[in-house]
Amino acid sequence: MVQEYLNTPLRERNSFGIDARAARLAEFDSAESLCEYLARTPRTTGRTAVIGGGNNILFTGDFDGLLLHPVGRACRIDARGGDRVAVHAEAGLPWDDFVRLCTENGLWGAENLTAIPGTVGAAPVQNIGAYGAEAADIIESVEVIDLNTLKPSIIAAEHCAFGYRESVFKGPLRGRVVITAVNFRLSRTPHPNLGYGALAAETAALGEPSLENITEAVRRIRASKLPDPALIGNAGSFFKNPVVEQALAERLRSRFPEMPSYATADPDRIKIPAGWLIEKAGWKGVTRNRAGVYERQALILVNRGGASGANIIALAEAIIADVQAKFGITIAPEVNIW
Ligand code: FAD
Ligand code: NAP
Repeated sequence: MVQEYLNTPLRERNSFGIDARAARLAEFDSAESLCEYLARTPRTTGRTAVIGGGNNILFTGDFDGLLLHPVGRACRIDARGGDRVAVHAEAGLPWDDFVRLCTENGLWGAENLTAIPGTVGAAPVQNIGAYGAEAADIIESVEVIDLNTLKPSIIAAEHCAFGYRESVFKGPLRGRVVITAVNFRLSRTPHPNLGYGALAAETAALGEPSLENITEAVRRIRASKLPDPALIGNAGSFFKNPVVEQALAERLRSRFPEMPSYATADPDRIKIPAGWLIEKAGWKGVTRNRAGVYERQALILVNRGGASGANIIALAEAIIADVQAKFGITIAPEVNIW
């Protein structure tokens, strides 16, 4: 089934709470109904794009094309025995419901990704990640519909070009496919991944490193640091963490010995937290024209109430220029700017 809305408000459909409208928005509950709808719907004006929960999109104006929104939420766990368990989830399932289903069924692999807002269908797009885990660790394949041919296909994980908050869906396939379902592979064998920040201590305070305690620990850490979009508009981290040449990191470390940095898979490249650069440059807590930098985490830009997409962009551009001037690093948005 497809439910179509014309000239529809988007304010409740994006976590920044930006006031914008979509010329057309279609909610679809299956790959078949999507194809049937697209086949009979002329797409003459604007572009066609997909919106899940709108937790990683900044609208800078009205959307003059067709927005597709998955609402199918079915999730199927392979009932057979064995350690590796296949899970099939439809694109419209809220990500956190997927994580809960996995953990309640004793399946390991998704627990560090607890409480990330959004849908299953969006998870492969930026290869969502947190606390040393990422969606790519558990994705086996992604089911898509090609927007031109309306043909379904299954893209194996090794062809998804997953990287740090990157994938083929943000690159060559951007705007060309709709993700209708994701196939995951989880494990029944416990393998706690607690090497990140306060996660080990927070889990230990709750008891043994069980799925229940790890997910509760992640929930608590997140609730203490991250703004709830229901209360204050935001899209999580606005910028990606820059990965820079070792030589530049060394030069900066001699100027700022306290600067945090992390090794990457490439020994010549170092990850520097963008939040630290922004805070060091003096932006934490700053507000300009109702767009602000969150007080508890400088990586997050917030809508203080009534900000437009342009207000948020103006703040982001000022931060990018200042960080470039002070550190010689160009930070780039993680959020999709539409
Ligand atoms: P949307 O914002 O609707 O879409 C994001 C992008 O994916 C768009 O380009 C859209 O076109 C595309 N897309 C969405 N669904 C589909 C589909 N079915 N087919 C094809 N393309 C699609 N991200 C992290 O990685 N880690 C975090 O820890 C994290 N924490 C966050 C905390 C907060 C408070 C907030 C607000 C955001 C956070 N994010 C985090 C960002 C966000 O949760 C993720 O990017 C999430 O995957 C967005 O899901 P969504 O359904 O809202 O996608
Ligand atoms: P944090 O723990 O204060 O860490 C700050 C930054 O340092 C993070 O960006 C993180 O990079 C990096 N970092 C910290 N410990 C690391 C380690 N052991 N190894 C490698 N990198 C490390 O960050 P936070 O803001 O509270 O967020 C916690 C986690 O949730 C992070 O993984 C973050 O990515 C995720 N998160 C993401 C979003 C989003 O919108 N994308 C929003 C909120 C939280 P990484 O980001 O690469 O992990």
